[in-house]
Amino acid sequence: MSMEHVDALVIGAGPSGTAAAAWLADKGHKVVIIERAIFPRFVIGESLLPLSMGHWEETGLLPALQAQNFAVKEGARFYRDGKLFNLAFGQNYTQGWTWTWQVPRADFDDVLAKAVMAKGVPIHFGHEAISVDLEHEKGVHLISRGKDGTKEFTAPFVIDSSGYGGVLVKLLDLGDTRENNGRMALFTHVVEGDTKRATVADPMQISFEVLARDLWFWSIPFSNGNTSIGFVGHRDHFQEALKSPTKSETIRKMLEGSHIFGERFKDGKFDFEPKVIDEYTHYNLSLTGPGYVLTGNCAGFLDPVFSSGVGFATESGLLAAKLLDRQLKGETIDWQVEYEAHIKKGAAVFRSYVDDWYSGDLQDVFFANKVEQSHKERIISVLAGYVWDKSNPYVTKHDRLIKALAHSIRMEEGQDAELIRPTK
Ligand SMILES: Cc1cc2nc3c(=O)[nH]c(=O)nc-3n(C[C@H](O)[C@H](O)[C@H](O)COP(=O)(O)OP(=O)(O)OC[C@H]3O[C@@H](n4cnc5c(N)ncnc54)[C@H](O)[C@@H]3O)c2cc1C
Repeated sequence: MSMEHVDALVIGAGPSGTAAAAWLADKGHKVVIIERAIFPRFVIGESLLPLSMGHWEETGLLPALQAQNFAVKEGARFYRDGKLFNLAFGQNYTQGWTWTWQVPRADFDDVLAKAVMAKGVPIHFGHEAISVDLEHEKGVHLISRGKDGTKEFTAPFVIDSSGYGGVLVKLLDLGDTRENNGRMALFTHVVEGDTKRATVADPMQISFEVLARDLWFWSIPFSNGNTSIGFVGHRDHFQEALKSPTKSETIRKMLEGSHIFGERFKDGKFDFEPKVIDEYTHYNLSLTGPGYVLTGNCAGFLDPVFSSGVGFATESGLLAAKLLDRQLKGETIDWQVEYEAHIKKGAAVFRSYVDDWYSGDLQDVFFANKVEQSHKERIISVLAGYVWDKSNPYVTKHDRLIKALAHSIRMEEGQDAELIRPTK
């Protein structure tokens, strides 16, 4: 069995692991990534946030991504009951990137992985981290297993960016399972091509359709001619369609309920049999401890509605790397304060917006006849991922302002909330 000692071990070569590894490598540290899959590999999470663009700029990974022809995302369209809300990141209140991409993650993550390897970081593809000892004399001892046998690594620190794999979450029993919300997702890619797209208005725009207060549909067109489609919501909405013999038939049945996209996609050819992720929301009791930190999806995941997953993955991966760089240079880092509190603060802002979405309040703001521009800009900033901007009242008072605004809109428009919101 081979044994290697490095400065930092990273588990997982998704956006979080590659952001962390790239930063550490640039600072001269010896890093390895252990990655269970052989790339390119599928993962969901295809609509990005402007927030991540700054992270790729800082880690030097941006030029490799810019060299691809990924579809540019400058905002998103939301439809409900014949009304359209056009969210444009160009109206951001916070200074920062005002656009990003919508991407097939297999290709996107492959580009990131290659760009990190070009910085001298070895990625052990097809190697699964099967054991991690955090009390080893050299700090952390990790064993991985792959087709070519078993490998052993030691390092003072491990960054767990293993996403849905949740290596340390399982090992240390960190998962917080108290709050199930009953939501699920069903998705696939439609092989669409430009001919079919030419028949609809704004075909390259990422779009959402609200089908009930807690059921919505996404359409994410890629530059490769395919379009990602998916339904997300409370599992009650899926039960009838899930009786179909195949997931393809399930999603076609669900498409019958879509006013905006049903015609476009119902006869589409699917690139793969639709996948289901049940109860996708997950939290952890703790994000860091002696010798380790959890980043990205491994640290937790709220909801796909505002495409915040990859934004949090790069924010947390990069922050973990910056703190570890300082620690490796001899500084004492208070990971609870500098890492965990920061990530949880941002997550709490997003969580309020997700809760306000499913309660209907944020939907009523989106579809109001008129919202003052200054409010709009501050809300858009949050939805671009700038959830740490303390000058934005829609960040600092995240638990109150959307509710208050929705209330005043309903008063002004003279409508009863329950009448204007579609219900379950
Ligand atoms: C239905 C749904 C829709 C979503 N839509 C969006 C969206 O539009 N936009 C968005 O930003 N986010 C979205 N997300 C969230 C998104 O999937 C994740 O937040 C994002 O992929 C996180 O990146 P990551 O780097 O943390 O993890 P990942 O990209 O999942 O990478 C983790 C890597 O770790 C590897 N790994 C796992 N276990 C091991 C192991 N034992 N050993 C070695 N390697 C291992 C995996 O193979 C994988 O490559 C969505 C999530 C769901 C459920």
